[in-house]
Amino acid sequence: MTTGLEIVRTVADLRAQVATWHAARATVAMVPTMGAIHEGHMSLVRQAASLADHVVASIFVNPLQFGPSEDFEAYPRGEARDAALLAEAGAELLYAPNASEMYPQGFATKVRVSDLTDVLCGASRPDHFDGVATVVTKLLLQCGPDIAIFGEKDFQQLLIIRRFVDDLNIPVKIVGGAIVREPDGLALSSRNAYLTAEERETAPLLHATLRQAAQEMASGLTTEHALESARAVLEAAGFRVDYLEARDPVTLAPVSGIVSAARILVAAFLGKTRLIDNVPVPPKA
Ligand code: AMP
Repeated sequence: MTTGLEIVRTVADLRAQVATWHAARATVAMVPTMGAIHEGHMSLVRQAASLADHVVASIFVNPLQFGPSEDFEAYPRGEARDAALLAEAGAELLYAPNASEMYPQGFATKVRVSDLTDVLCGASRPDHFDGVATVVTKLLLQCGPDIAIFGEKDFQQLLIIRRFVDDLNIPVKIVGGAIVREPDGLALSSRNAYLTAEERETAPLLHATLRQAAQEMASGLTTEHALESARAVLEAAGFRVDYLEARDPVTLAPVSGIVSAARILVAAFLGKTRLIDNVPVPPKA
């Protein structure tokens, strides 16, 4: 497949291309992914292309962020198809290193963000965010983009990335991208492919229930009441709720009672598939 997208696999080649662009006083935006490209990733690439002169996308299925019983081996891989979609959305360069380029023999460093990583997804996936923080730090330092874009789909991840980029003085502007959804509301995710036909029919209820809870909270119902009924709806439909919480949208501190600004975040299993989603609680009418 010809894509018009140049593919580089080493830090040296990536840096050489970015240096050429920077020497011409052009700006560079990076969109890190694990491949299995869908419209969610493509919207981030389009956003990147609207904010910078050149877009680098990366594909790296990062072993460090998968738990021992998670889907690292099964994670969908298909570089030619992914490259074509990234090019179509406006990426000019694809950085697709192999594991030994990213983690050479002797690699021994970990980036760990405290507090923010202990809750929500961090509570049920113990080393996940250390893996994410470590690889995103490396990707940003390897590429040196002016801007990097991450989806609000992974809301906790976005806050963690903002935190370590600030803490480590990494010279990049982090931008969040809106969640892209199927017409029925299900947030796009590579893992939606794991759903059976029956589970796929149930899945949109996750977003519908979050929206309902957010509206209830915005109209003055307490957080506890809104979340309790949301949980009951999801469980009755067959979801196994990992967490369903309302949190401060900046610090992720728990919120309770009647609140004005919050984010409701959920992780829930449908069969074997773990789905995550989140919505803002709109300001009171
Ligand atoms: P992943 O390949 O799953 O690691 O995702 C790569 C980037 O795409 C991350 O910044 C995700 O937050 C973002 N992303 C994944 N799904 C969506 C979606 N449905 N809408 C917007 N961004 C997304």
